[in-house]
Amino acid sequence: MRGDTRQWIESDKSCAWHPFTPQDSWTDPSHEPLVLVKGEGVWLWDSEGRKYLDGNASIWTNIHGHGHPHVTGAIKAQLDEVAHTSYLGFANPRASELAERLVGLSPDGLDRVFFSDNGSTAIEVAMKMAVQYRLQTGEPERTGFVAFTNAYHGDTMGAASLGGVSRFFERFRGLGVTADFVRSVAELDALDADGMAAVVIEPLIQGVNEMRPWPAGMLGELRAWCDARGVHLILDEVMTGFGRTGTMFACEQESVVPDFLCLAKGLTAGYVPMAATLTREEIYDAFRGGPENAFYYGHSFTANPVGCAAALANLELFERDEVLSGLPAKITHLKNSLAAHFSGNPWVHEVRQCGMIAGIELRHPDGVGFSPDERVGERVSIAARGHGMLSRPIRDTLVFLPPLSIALEEIEWGLEAFSKAIGEVL
Ligand code: PLP
Repeated sequence: MRGDTRQWIESDKSCAWHPFTPQDSWTDPSHEPLVLVKGEGVWLWDSEGRKYLDGNASIWTNIHGHGHPHVTGAIKAQLDEVAHTSYLGFANPRASELAERLVGLSPDGLDRVFFSDNGSTAIEVAMKMAVQYRLQTGEPERTGFVAFTNAYHGDTMGAASLGGVSRFFERFRGLGVTADFVRSVAELDALDADGMAAVVIEPLIQGVNEMRPWPAGMLGELRAWCDARGVHLILDEVMTGFGRTGTMFACEQESVVPDFLCLAKGLTAGYVPMAATLTREEIYDAFRGGPENAFYYGHSFTANPVGCAAALANLELFERDEVLSGLPAKITHLKNSLAAHFSGNPWVHEVRQCGMIAGIELRHPDGVGFSPDERVGERVSIAARGHGMLSRPIRDTLVFLPPLSIALEEIEWGLEAFSKAIGEVL
């Protein structure tokens, strides 16, 4: 091992703390974490010079590949102008351009953009806007939120209150907002709609819930349910936005326009942290008037010009390279390739796909799940590294969610690596 790799690992183990990571196993002397140093296209390199396919698009963020000169060029050009200016009381050119682009691009009816920093804050913004809107429009009793069982909407306290994955959120219940959880639109009927501010959902597919698609038509049904009762609909497109499901936004596939559309991850093509919450002009109107009506929310880096420049470059690439029209062929190839690699494999319980998202769930051949102690998903994903493939499983579901720029032969290559890894471990 190179000297600087050893030093980085030692500094990490002795001083850093990683998210969602049991630190004892991380700092175990036998565990040698990868130190990632470089990216180009769908490939990443570690500090020892080994090359890997970025099979989960660097935690579901990357769109056009790493080191794309159009995105890095836009970031560098912005840095040469100014890295950051306050958005509290000032505008900046890239944020103005981006707000206009997002309004033009998003479903008709979403006319206002509020910037923030990450997926969790995009949700926080929607939640606070939903509550303050009710206060300012004479419905103060509508403070309730409803989310779906096993949902994931982020980790800040408000967003975590809407999280339904118990191992992440149970300890913090009661500290944030108290939300109700349902499994289906039909279950909403059992709740008091008059006290509801909004329902929140990950459209088309739940990500952290091991990549589980919703039944077709469900989103439209939910929109109709909300409309009939004056309840707002918050769509969390933090994972699904920017082409991931085959259309620019997942909600387009069921012709649904939400009241709040939450975007992050792919907004900047996955290059820098940035988020946006889009909403309707009618909601914005309730915040007009004097200081008492203003929306008191914001962060130091709101509308950071570098983030906005990256996001504009991302959208330019979608147009220039006709990314969306290239997706159907890739999605079909992914489908066929998943079937070819896994349909006869006794350890593969189910393959789930939505656009360029795939989850490969592993179980015993008799259909019984593995015990968490067996850490099968983790062991297979680590074995896949040996075949040059990087991804993070969710329990025993392997995740394949590459940059959208992936070539057909690279899809093949990545699934082949998973297939070999399953063969080695099981
Ligand atoms: N919403 C969804 C659907 C997500 O998948 C995530 C992150 O994975 C988030 C929200 C939170 O985003 P962030 O990690 O940027 O706060």
